[in-house]
Amino acid sequence: MLAIFKNILTYALLHLEIFFGKQGIVILEYHRISESISPEDVHSIYPEEFDFQIEYLVANGYKIVSLPEVIHLLSNGYNKSEKIIALTFDDGHKDNIHYAYPILKKFNVKATMFVLSDYVGKKGWLDEKGNLNIDKVKHGQWWDLLSWDELAEIRDHFWIEAHGKSHRQMSTLSKHELREELLDPMLVIKETLNIQSTVFCYPFGNYNNEVVEQTKLLGYAGACSTHKGVNEAYTTDLWKLKRNEVGRGITKMQFKLLLNNSIVFYDKVSRFFNRRKTYLNKPTV
Ligand SMILES: [Zn+2]
Repeated sequence: MLAIFKNILTYALLHLEIFFGKQGIVILEYHRISESISPEDVHSIYPEEFDFQIEYLVANGYKIVSLPEVIHLLSNGYNKSEKIIALTFDDGHKDNIHYAYPILKKFNVKATMFVLSDYVGKKGWLDEKGNLNIDKVKHGQWWDLLSWDELAEIRDHFWIEAHGKSHRQMSTLSKHELREELLDPMLVIKETLNIQSTVFCYPFGNYNNEVVEQTKLLGYAGACSTHKGVNEAYTTDLWKLKRNEVGRGITKMQFKLLLNNSIVFYDKVSRFFNRRKTYLNKPTV
């Protein structure tokens, strides 16, 4: 009985967008794509899942654009019949060159990658505060990050943007530290790759009014948060752009629901029936 109900619900969510979904620009949030993902890593997916997702977007007429383009469309309006989407990758993980890059190349599409100027080319354990450590930390994740040479190699299918100097929680920093976190990646990316950063991404999705204010003052045109949802012309706050994470265990159907944001409604219903962790219910990085 539950299975029949679930099928009807899924059909309604996918096809009756007018009631459940929301039109607007969707920004997808990825981290690692790899064949070997540790069980506690809920933010990464397998290469065959990513391959399916990009093929689906291309086959279904989605226009995959850069974040400056998203900001331009949100500020000036766009034809709502167009299906516009942006792909973002956080942190600059090494496996993105081995798995994500060939798939982006295969379908001739481009994604945005947010990098950390102090951590490029390094390996270590990321602690809860966002520092990279040589020694294992209690609740940490192992990070192996792309080098500047590798970033230069993949730039034909990745727009490189700034995620910070380190990965620290920005709302906890002094004004001086905060400015350093925002400015350093902008300067180093320009110096090393000759790319002008335009859109920032708050580490852990962590920000406050001061963080937003400084991000604006230092010349970024917008910033990505980890709030879920779709971005709508004229009303979405460009310094709190919403993103839908594509993470561990996502099914093909859930991926489709992410694209019109009806995943939020689906998740509520699943939580009501299952009373357990659902797709959207996990920490942010
Ligand atoms: Zn991050």
